[in-house]
Amino acid sequence: METALVSNIQKFSLDDGPGIRTTVFFKGCNLSCAWCHNPECISRFPTLQFIADACTGCRHCQSLCPQGVHLFKGKEHLLQRQLCEACGACCQGCLSDALVLNGKHYTRKQLLSIIMQDQDYYQDTGGGVTVSGGEPMLQADFIAGLLASCKKEGISTAVDTAGNVPFSEYEKVLPWTDFFLYDIKAFSRDIHRKYTGCDNSRIQANLRQLKEHGATVYVRIPVIPGVNDSMEEQTHIADFLKQVQPDKIELLPYHSYGTGKYSSFGLPYRLTGLQPPPQETMENILTLFLAWKLPAVIS
Ligand code: SF4
Ligand code: SF4
Repeated sequence: METALVSNIQKFSLDDGPGIRTTVFFKGCNLSCAWCHNPECISRFPTLQFIADACTGCRHCQSLCPQGVHLFKGKEHLLQRQLCEACGACCQGCLSDALVLNGKHYTRKQLLSIIMQDQDYYQDTGGGVTVSGGEPMLQADFIAGLLASCKKEGISTAVDTAGNVPFSEYEKVLPWTDFFLYDIKAFSRDIHRKYTGCDNSRIQANLRQLKEHGATVYVRIPVIPGVNDSMEEQTHIADFLKQVQPDKIELLPYHSYGTGKYSSFGLPYRLTGLQPPPQETMENILTLFLAWKLPAVIS
């Protein structure tokens, strides 16, 4: 039976569209944004998380691991992650919950039954389900089937996407998607390449096409100090969005909440020490967008 690898299912989410929502975070992404706050979703494979503060140093994991991943130097617990085959044995054996295997396979039926548990809340608040990640559109066939089932149950549906897949993938989900949350990270090709590892021409073209197909699209712009917060860059974005006419634009100030996760997954964080943009910067950008008569808000 077809399954998809899910990192996390967040119930009562208030950040991924209107009302109370269930957000399903799928694993796998084809961008690597320097400020990503879901680094556990980048890999399309199950990923070992080690919460060092919870580790008592009992070394039980070392005896359970068939790959020799866990090493101890005095009190220091080191992981040779490149050897890990994600069998989960050490996670099951750790009594301190210091080891977690992130990523679980679900069928559509299993996900639908979890999503439906909160149907009353969706109806009362105008909420629903949001598929996110990672890049959920890398699994468009699975997502299309899931969203179609949700629609049949009367549940509102949203797709949170970074836009970097062939447009044919969007055509699969369009009939079952009430709205898209669509990230625009930079207009300048160089900035986009430097901070996400990828060119943005397909992302821009897909956004145009989604609007041409009549989709409802809420654009989200993360405002990252020193990356895309200059008035010049934001003017380019505003000019582009004026042509596309999204239904709403959310300006999201950078925050560092997800950075602690990086070390627990053995990943480097490229923006260490970066502070959120001053409120004045956010308001200047908002003023710019409003001057272009764009439906922007600071979120
Ligand atoms: S089993 Fe858990 S608590 Fe014990 S050493 Fe391994 S990670 Fe630490
Ligand atoms: S998940 Fe399996 S292979 Fe990976 S560290 Fe744990 S026991 Fe070893």
